[in-house]
Amino acid sequence: MTTRRLDGREVASHLRRDLEHRVQQLAASGEGSPPRLAIVQDGMSQGAGLYAASLERAARSVGVSTHLIVGAGPHDGAIAELNRDPGITGIVLAQPFADVGEGRRLVELIDPAKDVDGATPTNAGRLARGEPAFVPATALAVIAILEAFDIKVAGRRAVIVGRSAVVGRPVASLLLARDATVVICHRQTLHLARETRRAELLVAAAGVPGLIRPEMVNASAVVIDCGINATDAGIVGDVEFAAIAPFVSAITPVPGGIGPVTPMMVLRQTVESAERQVP
Ligand code: NAD
Repeated sequence: MTTRRLDGREVASHLRRDLEHRVQQLAASGEGSPPRLAIVQDGMSQGAGLYAASLERAARSVGVSTHLIVGAGPHDGAIAELNRDPGITGIVLAQPFADVGEGRRLVELIDPAKDVDGATPTNAGRLARGEPAFVPATALAVIAILEAFDIKVAGRRAVIVGRSAVVGRPVASLLLARDATVVICHRQTLHLARETRRAELLVAAAGVPGLIRPEMVNASAVVIDCGINATDAGIVGDVEFAAIAPFVSAITPVPGGIGPVTPMMVLRQTVESAERQVP
């Protein structure tokens, strides 16, 4: 059996072309506001800085303008201003903030209609209830990859390793909405390998390099690796790619899998937010 390599760069480049076209159509219609993404960060975290930079790059590539706010805060006034400004169609708080509690508090100030990284409790609640919502971008990237490679979800047993609000939980909601049977594993799960071996669709989102080893997957599995872990050997995922890739049915590489698709999902939601303003 040949393993399918689920190349996120290829998916991202299709998405880029589609978004570029939609941005041009919005401009040609002369109605509503052109999409514009505001990114707020405290400037303290390298990870948040990299995320902001990748969003800015991706935005430029599809013709969406950005407005970057970097500083120690407090950011309450800035967020209120962005909420009011009809020229801003999306707002992202680049996490983590040095003060995690402050990051969590500020997220709640974002207008849910501009919350294009699905971070507010309102959008999380809507997603959990199976209602239309803005969704965390990494979770949407998982679905975008499955759709791009025509991988069946309905009726399949999906096992997700990780239950964070940004990846594990929203992935579970999205897969459930697509009629998968969903199992969520986490740090307290007993016999992780027993669960993961039963997965037809395995989504790793634990942030632990090489957590998923060959004996933990079955040969028919589709493996999606959301992990982005900085190690001495460079960026690696949660899955032992080299050992597992030869015998599963399909797998995303790291880097080059979920990573390049994630910023495109923020931009897709920023463009959707602008399209909703068109009368
Ligand atoms: P997190 O630390 O908030 O959550 C990790 C989850 O994994 C927790 O629910 C924890 O219970 C579970 N977990 C940790 N160790 C485990 C173990 N040994 N066995 C079973 N479960 C375990 O992390 P996060 O923010 O969800 O990020 C997860 C990974 O995804 C990280 O590598 C992160 O860098 C990556 N990530 C990628 C993107 C992207 O764009 N691709 C975006 C966000 C996060």
